[in-house]
Amino acid sequence: MPQKRDITVIGAGPAGAVTAILLARLGYDVLMLFRARGRPRIEGLSQRVVEVLGVHGLDGSLSAVGPAVNRQAVWNGEAAARNLEFATERNAFDAGLLRDAEANGVRCLETTRVSLTGQTETPLVRVTSAEGETLELSPRFVIEARGRSAPYGLTRPTVGAETTALTRRIGGQAHAPQTMVESFADGWAWYVCDGAQAFLQIFVDSAGGLPKRAALAALFDAHAETLVQISAAIAPGKPVGPVTTRNAAPRMASSILTGSTIRVGDAASAPDPLSGNGVFAALGSGLSAVAVVNTIIETPENRALAQRFYEERTQDGFLRFARVGRSFYAMEKRWSTRPFWRARANWPDQEPPHVPAGSGKLRIERRPVVDGGLIVERKVVVTPDQPRGIWRVDSVPLAELIEHLHESEGEPIAERAPLLANRMGIGNGKLAVALDWLRSRRVLAAGESVAIEPASIDLDSIELKGEKGANH
Ligand SMILES: Cc1cc2nc3c(=O)[nH]c(=O)nc-3n(C[C@H](O)[C@H](O)[C@H](O)COP(=O)(O)OP(=O)(O)OC[C@H]3O[C@@H](n4cnc5c(N)ncnc54)[C@H](O)[C@@H]3O)c2cc1C
Repeated sequence: MPQKRDITVIGAGPAGAVTAILLARLGYDVLMLFRARGRPRIEGLSQRVVEVLGVHGLDGSLSAVGPAVNRQAVWNGEAAARNLEFATERNAFDAGLLRDAEANGVRCLETTRVSLTGQTETPLVRVTSAEGETLELSPRFVIEARGRSAPYGLTRPTVGAETTALTRRIGGQAHAPQTMVESFADGWAWYVCDGAQAFLQIFVDSAGGLPKRAALAALFDAHAETLVQISAAIAPGKPVGPVTTRNAAPRMASSILTGSTIRVGDAASAPDPLSGNGVFAALGSGLSAVAVVNTIIETPENRALAQRFYEERTQDGFLRFARVGRSFYAMEKRWSTRPFWRARANWPDQEPPHVPAGSGKLRIERRPVVDGGLIVERKVVVTPDQPRGIWRVDSVPLAELIEHLHESEGEPIAERAPLLANRMGIGNGKLAVALDWLRSRRVLAAGESVAIEPASIDLDSIELKGEKGANH
């Protein structure tokens, strides 16, 4: 008989672990399946990753975050110092996530084989544990968190230019901790050293395939020799040992929530590693999936809303990363006609990656938001730079604030503010932060009186879209 459990998480990277931990904290019985770790590898984690781990009290993974190192970029022949990143050994980090999961009551099982079938209301997970035991699980919900190795089944993901990362260790004496990105004629390279070990990753186009394993080292070395700044940083060290390969193309699954299976992290949407934000994006995806799963189980009548929330969030994030990446690739002009650069400077489209804050009209609409661990519908403020809408700024509901302000146009703002704060049940400090947000979006006109800037707010649509419709 298949064992009945609440939730099975397949994969224990950042997305799987954070989803498992937060669902366990909500009281679900969570089993997380993980695999033995692979070769050592270092990734650069952003400050935002450290903040998310801290906010959620994930001390095990936090203590495995590596040293803050300087980031440098040499792109289009120009060298620039960027901000810091944390050079973190991923096996140690993932072991920290596992400790966090166990400390939060998630049951963790090492497996050698996993198969998932029946992605309907009754998924079935067949598992061979590291001890050789075979189990059949029929959980209420499955979290597909196997990263880039999560199968797509019969569906076709959206994929950017096919890219493979070739990695070799750098031998020789210990080097200064740092990271460096450098472009070259047929790709780009990332050198990372955490003070103890160093690696060089070379990202190349693999649309036409790659040479056989035996010839990969020669390909790697031929590209590495063209790197000017990285070669200087590595010297007198040299690439040593075998070349490992990882798929690095940006990709997004076409179906991320089917029946009782949800894809999180790279399994849903894997950004181009050029973004350097994969782990942050994976944590964010897991955090939002928790509310989606909780909604579908606790308030199934809101399933469609939760699905819309998750799909929009995933697609929007994927497109943003892709457009930022495209703009960065297009900045490299020296080899713009070569296949690697040509394929990346025009994908996914020509839309700008960011719309400047304060441009265009503002609307108030009803959209799905996360409230108290559930997806619910609320009035949000939609601006061109925030197409999914902003519900609250520092816990102040913006749409409600705009509606109140609308009633008191022309009145002195200093006199109006305490009354407004009182009416909305918020502190003066919070109100000031929300008013500043509206000013930054040029919604409030500069001056001493409450004045909604007519050029930036679409006054006609301050009446909610569909407010009188059947759903509201
Ligand atoms: C070459 C390269 C370099 C990168 N560099 C960076 C970087 O510097 N900074 C950054 O933030 N991001 C980087 N990324 C992206 C980052 O690695 C991912 O975005 C992030 O790890 C995604 O987290 P995840 O939890 O979704 O998946 P993963 O971290 O991939 O975790 C998936 C987990 O599932 C497990 N798994 C797979 N199959 C099974 C199975 N059958 N049974 C059980 N478990 C299974 C795996 O062992 C793994 O633990 C890089 C990616 C690539 C390809």
